[in-house]
Amino acid sequence: MPELPEVETTVRGLVPVLLDRTLVRVETRRGDMRRPFPVDLRQRMTGARVISLARRAKYGLVGTDRGNTMIFHLGMSGRWRIDPAELGAHDHLVLETDTGRVLALNDPRRFGFVDLVEGDPEQCYPPFGELGPEPLSPAFNGVCLARVLTGRSAPIKAMLLDQKIVAGLGNIYVCEALNRARIHPGRAAGRISQARVDRLVEAIKRVLDAAIAAGGSTLRDFARPDGELGYFAKDWRVYGREGEACACGARVRRRVDSGRSTFFCAACQR
Ligand SMILES: [Zn+2]
Repeated sequence: MPELPEVETTVRGLVPVLLDRTLVRVETRRGDMRRPFPVDLRQRMTGARVISLARRAKYGLVGTDRGNTMIFHLGMSGRWRIDPAELGAHDHLVLETDTGRVLALNDPRRFGFVDLVEGDPEQCYPPFGELGPEPLSPAFNGVCLARVLTGRSAPIKAMLLDQKIVAGLGNIYVCEALNRARIHPGRAAGRISQARVDRLVEAIKRVLDAAIAAGGSTLRDFARPDGELGYFAKDWRVYGREGEACACGARVRRRVDSGRSTFFCAACQR
């Protein structure tokens, strides 16, 4: 499932193909993904020039010179294919640029979706109104996070997954960051010292940066036909490693709460 680093590397991979290019073809190949495609997507995007590519949380943003922004979400299995040799059943949206490059939004499970907004998405797109700061921005720092966590008795892991507290963090990165910061996922959020909150923020940024760098190092491959953006192998310390050794030597444990696995080390995470 694509998380923030996958979306970030996807957006970066789209830049050389889409930025400053005019879209000459915008074709939806079925009526919907998780929800229907915007009815005016084709009309608004065809002939438009792409002037910006960006990411907010796990959303990709394609801004045009007409003041529209196409917003895409990769859901559970979405990816963009670059210059596919041929289109398949799961290529739901196809874009073609004035240089003849073709992009296909492929999503077998169709939990992804595409929206279109007019004006500044930060102001006009309702889901963005609810989002907390970007984890890699200076706005996400130890002082601000500690303030938000003050008095909260919910487990720190649940708080970090709350998109209103910090945007775009998923289960994997939260498990990894808590392990690196040596904080137990079940610890009451309001009962973590400032020094440890600082360490946690630093761990979150480090884990995300490392994943983006890993994805970025494979960006070269994205130029090949049928290239798929955004998925890359990663080296986890605890995630998916139940029973294996933590960096401290103890065994990684797994616990399931509300259907979601938490991987952690009871020896070094307090
Ligand atoms: Zn450990």
